Amino acid sequence: MALVNCRECGKLITSESEAICPVCSQKRDREMAKIRDCVRVNPKISLLELSAQSGISTKRIIQFMHEGLITYQTPATNE
Ligand SMILES: [Zn+2]
Repeated sequence: MALVNCRECGKLITSESEAICPVCSQKRDREMAKIRDCVRVNPKISLLELSAQSGISTKRIIQFMHEGLITYQTPATNE
């Protein structure tokens, strides 16, 4: 067990794998569920629309994408 700071809120937690506390983990799960719902309903949704519909910032959505937590791909802009 290592003592680390939660990467979301900075709270000191013990963690073996992810540096995220249970509170932030739950919040993140809810946000990801919202994003997945929006993408399922409209797979071609743009990042801005996705952000508006889910109420989650584009920065956060991009972070989820980079972490591989959501499979959403930003549609090509040359359509
Ligand atoms: Zn936290």
